[in-house]
Amino acid sequence: MQGYRIWECLVCGWVYDELKGAPEDGIPPKTRWEDVPDDWLCPECGVGKSDFEMIEVHTQPSSTAASTATQSDSPETQAAAESNAELAAFANIDYARKPIIVIGTGLAGYQLAKELRKHDTSTHLIMITADDGNSYSKPQLSTAFQKRRSPEQLVSYSAREMAETLQANILTFSKVSAIDTDAHTVTIDTGRQQSHLTYNKLVLALGSEPIHAPVAGNAAGCAFHINDLQDFQRFYTAASGAKSALVIGGGLIGCEYANDLVQSGFEVHVVEPQSQVLANLLPPDASALVQTTLSQAGVNFHLGTTVKSLDYRGSGVQAELDNGAHIQVDRVISAIGVRPRVELAQQCGIPCNRGVLTDRLLATQVEDVYALGDCAEVDGHNLCYVAPLLASAQALARTLAGTPTPVFYDSMPVNVKTTLCPVITSPPPRGTQGDWHYTRADSQGVAARFITPNGELMGFALAGNACQQVTEFSEQAPPIMQN
Ligand code: FAD
Repeated sequence: MQGYRIWECLVCGWVYDELKGAPEDGIPPKTRWEDVPDDWLCPECGVGKSDFEMIEVHTQPSSTAASTATQSDSPETQAAAESNAELAAFANIDYARKPIIVIGTGLAGYQLAKELRKHDTSTHLIMITADDGNSYSKPQLSTAFQKRRSPEQLVSYSAREMAETLQANILTFSKVSAIDTDAHTVTIDTGRQQSHLTYNKLVLALGSEPIHAPVAGNAAGCAFHINDLQDFQRFYTAASGAKSALVIGGGLIGCEYANDLVQSGFEVHVVEPQSQVLANLLPPDASALVQTTLSQAGVNFHLGTTVKSLDYRGSGVQAELDNGAHIQVDRVISAIGVRPRVELAQQCGIPCNRGVLTDRLLATQVEDVYALGDCAEVDGHNLCYVAPLLASAQALARTLAGTPTPVFYDSMPVNVKTTLCPVITSPPPRGTQGDWHYTRADSQGVAARFITPNGELMGFALAGNACQQVTEFSEQAPPIMQN
């Protein structure tokens, strides 16, 4: 019998595992991909089956010694095991050549490794991560409560399984603290000891980090910033028994958490300094539809104001807003944005702007060092979404395998997972002159195009049931990069 296969959403990275099925969508375990209904949509981002790709991974890993410590080990044990152990050997790998080292095992790092193995099965690949190396789809962090998924259930594969699948050595709980670009070495810090590894090519897939809101008060440090699975684990634990939450920030992540928590029974407050939600992504009427729909579900919006201070009061926290209002809640989430992680690159002399600067080959300005994902600014574009990193991973894998391949960012609409009022948007580049033109704005849906004074279409926005028009709007949308 053919082994069970895994299909991956090319837009958001969500994986369909035939062995597990998608029980939340009524698809039982062991359902073959061919038997999944044709009108089934990705539970994460809403794209259809045609946007999935089969990845050549079988769900039952063999018992060959992989190169990570077991998941049940404590972080300290794992770190010690990693730093002490010789890197495990895989039969196909050519150890005579220096390795490709990838720093980061988020979607960018793992996607690159998967793509690389399609073209090159023999280069020694070492992946280094500061976290546990578990493979998961980050977009699922903001829909997990309503889907009743625990942090453990969000893990698709352990680092050990990934190591075996990718025929790679994966060093977990290992922070890269320095890069010597002349000597081609990285310094790894496990907290107990330092070690050095030499690379032939180095890839930075370092992600981004949350921006902290400047808030006063004795509970200023209590806000949860949920930017990875560990963050989510901490919030998940703290949310147990909590009944109310304040979300600081009414952008994409803030609205997604408001949508998620309100449907899970929380009393939710959102504080947003601008006068509309999703202000950087949507025209006013589309924002208004999202706001109205979420308000009807119970979300309390406080727009045009900021959180001045957070102070412990009773068993929870009291927020004082700039407009003088007070809100008492059990937990606080801060979601005011992320910034690319560039410190390591900056310290090592790799030029950065907002992100690590690369050309369209994903090459930095330092020889043999590449970057992709949230940390990279590719030909002037720092886009902290999944679609750009998937395109980057495909191109960079070919380049690393010997065929220089520039990346091309086509139109890449963003799905906002406010499931009560879905949104698909392709906003114009920042600073573009022009206006939103509505083709529809009613209580069920809003559709608009952003047109420049020269009549050029530069973006679009769909909200509510107008999202059904996505194919028509996407086809007309301009690419992000010019060919
Ligand atoms: P990360 O996943 O952050 O990975 C960074 C890696 O680098 C980690 O392994 C970390 O340990 C490692 N690292 C960093 N520094 C070091 C160091 N010095 N040494 C060793 N390791 C290091 N995008 C969409 O397109 N659609 C969505 O619906 C969507 N929803 C989202 C929902 C949430 C809640 C969040 C937070 C983001 C969402 N995004 C979405 C954005 C998307 O998830 C990110 O763009 C993407 O996951 C970034 O992947 P990455 O690999 O670049 O970074």
